[in-house]
Order: sequence, then C-alpha cells, then structure tokens
Amino acid sequence: MSHRIVILGGGYAGVTAANRIARRLDGAEVTLVNERATFVERVRLHQVAAGESLASRPLRELVRPGVDVVVGRAGRIDLERRQVVLDGGAESEPAPLPYDTLVYALGSVAAPGPDDAVALATADDAWWARDRVAELVAEHGTVAVVGGGLTGIEAATELAERHPAVRVRLVSDVEPGPWLSHRAQGHLRRVFHGLGIEVAGGSVADVRDGSVRLTDGRVVGAGLTLACTGFAVPAVARDSGLAVDEVGRIRVDRTLRSVSHPDVYAVGDAAVPQLPNGRPFRMACATALPMSAAAGAAIADRLAGRRPTGLRFRYVNQCVSLGRRNGVIQAVAADDHPHRIVLTGAVAARYKETVVRGATWFTAHPGPNRPVPRTRV
Ligand SMILES: Cc1cc2nc3c(=O)[nH]c(=O)nc-3n(C[C@H](O)[C@H](O)[C@H](O)COP(=O)(O)OP(=O)(O)OC[C@H]3O[C@@H](n4cnc5c(N)ncnc54)[C@H](O)[C@@H]3O)c2cc1C
Repeated sequence: MSHRIVILGGGYAGVTAANRIARRLDGAEVTLVNERATFVERVRLHQVAAGESLASRPLRELVRPGVDVVVGRAGRIDLERRQVVLDGGAESEPAPLPYDTLVYALGSVAAPGPDDAVALATADDAWWARDRVAELVAEHGTVAVVGGGLTGIEAATELAERHPAVRVRLVSDVEPGPWLSHRAQGHLRRVFHGLGIEVAGGSVADVRDGSVRLTDGRVVGAGLTLACTGFAVPAVARDSGLAVDEVGRIRVDRTLRSVSHPDVYAVGDAAVPQLPNGRPFRMACATALPMSAAAGAAIADRLAGRRPTGLRFRYVNQCVSLGRRNGVIQAVAADDHPHRIVLTGAVAARYKETVVRGATWFTAHPGPNRPVPRTRV
C-alpha cells in the first residue's frame, strides 16, 4: 500500500506542503483537507473588509495533479489509530481519514477580543465586516479599529483610503507599529494624518452600544468596532493530545516534526519550532512558506531514507500596506529587529503587492529542491 499523507488546512502552509510533497514523492497518496473548497488569501482580508472583491481560487486548481482535496472540517486527531475525525453535519458522520504521515496546518483565528467587536482574522470575519462597512459608508458613520499591530494598521489605512466618507479611529494601547524603526513610525504618522485617521491611545475596557469604552473612562463612538488584537490557534492539536506551547501551537523540531508524535508534522501559524537559539517566530505568511517547504522536503527525504536538512531561513524585512497607494517596507536584522533602512510610499505599496502575489504563486509552485525563499511578506 502506498504511504498516506494527510494535510490539514488549505491555507498558505497546507497548500505549499501538499505541492512540495506531491512533487517530491511519486506514488504517495496526498490528501488535503480544508473547511472550504477555495483558497483564501488571508493577507488581503483587510482589503475584503474595506469592500474589495477578490478572485476566489478553487483549491483543486492550486494543487498539483494527484493531490486529492477533501472539503470538510477536522474535528479531532486520533493519534493512536492514526486517523483524522471529521466533523459531520446534522445527520452524516464522515468516515475517518487514515494517515501514515499527518501535516497539521490549521492556521489561526482571532484571539479573544472585546464582546460586540468584529474580529479580522478569517474570511467569515472579513465578509461580515464588509457588509457593515457598506452600511456605514451610506450613513457617513465611524469605524473604530482596535489594535496598533500590522492588521490594525493595514485595516485602518485601507478603510480610510477607500472610504473618505467614513471616519476611522484607531484605538491602541501602544504607539502604532511599535516594532518599526523611528523612521517608519514617522511615515506611519504622516499617512494617518493624511488619511484623517484619528489615533486614540488607551486600553479597551469593553465595546457596547456602538461605543468603545477605554479603561480611563473615555468613550470612542463607532458604528463598527474591528478587533485586530492578535491571533490564537485552533484547539484541535491540544485537544488531540499533541505537545503544544502555552498558546496551543504544536511544538516541532527543526524538521517541523512534532516533538511528541513523530508521524505528525506541523507548519504555519499553528506550529512553533523549538530551536536551540530560542528564536521567536512571527505568525506570518513569511514564516509559513519556508516552514511548509522545509516540512515537505523533510517528509520526502525521510521516506527516501535520506537525512533531512530542516528549516533554514531568516526574515529580511516586514511589509506593511497603508492602503493601495502607500506602504512601509521595514528591513530587519537576522533576529527580526528593525534596521534603519525603510522603503515608503507608492514604491513600497507596489513592492508589497508583488510580494503578496508572489506568496500565492509560491504555494502553487514551491519547487522540488529549490532553496526556501528569504521571505518578505
Ligand atoms: C488581515 C490580515 C493581514 C495579514 N497580513 C500579513 C502580512 O502582510 N504578512 C504576513 O506575513 N502575514 C500576514 N497575515 C498573517 C497570515 O495571513 C498568516 O500568518 C498566514 O495565513 C498563515 O498561514 P497558515 O497556512 O498557517 O494559516 P491560514 O492561511 O489561516 O490557513 C489555514 C487553513 O486551515 C483551514 N482550517 C482551519 N481550521 C480548520 C479545520 N478544523 N478543518 C479544516 N480546515 C480548517 C482554514 O480555513 C484555512 O484555509 C495577515 C493576516 C490577516 C488576517
């Protein structure tokens, strides 16, 4: 019987891993499981929330011939029997999916945020937000974006640029973009000013009745509050008994193999490599792509009796879109700290757009033996 490889999650990480494995392993049975039939360009969800229509790409068109796509929701992994239990509908209970090797790439969802706020982490979140934004455009209303990280900055600028009639307020307990250099932060402030984005510094106590209440008593009125307050991971790994870190990401070694279950690999937002230098990893596409390419190569190498090389990459920059016409590209050192080198303006916007397109292209064409990219997204 051929080796059965099941990949859970058809995002950047899962599709890259599936294609890499299918390219390297003739004769393996590769099955990709995803909760929807289409690939979601998650790094563009702030564009969707602002009202942009994005092309929907069927997963079957992104994966190599020979990769079987199963549309279903992974509910649990039976690590003893080596099978994935899929959630059934009201009446049906789908048959479990047996595997010899499992690749876990279920990504992330929104971290718990204030009640009554809409998150911006999944396609469903973005579609919900888009409909409410459309109403607010008609009403000349206000959107409050909570969070001064990458997602909050990209969402606020996208909304303000696309909808000048909507008032956009960014609520953050830190200076927006705290990881950026002074130069990049200065650019950010100028862009916010130019787009009319108001920044309210403070921590959110709660969101209710169309208002964001801050812990110091101030109230920021808003017809929609978008919570961009970080990501959490699905509980499937922890609930199934895999070794996970304090936030539920699967602990993996340098070859992306689970430290507790050697027939399980994990990649993307849902995995955390345990490297001797204790280096932190961003939950980012920039991490997911090299991880998945390395995992695919490691699986193929092990099955062929070769010693895998493992994950080798470094961040070179971080790209932030500030609407469609502006951006910040922050160069970073090997430890991910910002350099003084910063690219801004329209050139930065074009650069980021190229990188975002390149990320989707790479998932479909990760190459057989090409070195993993020095990723930039
Ligand atoms: C608005 C926004 C902007 C971003 N911008 C950037 C950026 O500029 N640069 C950057 O590097 N990163 C960015 N990110 C982060 C980036 O999108 C993630 O790090 C990346 O998508 C991780 O890839 P992944 O494959 O691990 O997870 P995902 O892309 O989330 O893919 C996971 C897949 O698993 C599926 N899934 C989940 N649970 C189940 C289940 N139980 N059963 C079946 N299928 C399931 C999901 O539907 C999805 O298809 C951004 C994120 C957001 C939300």
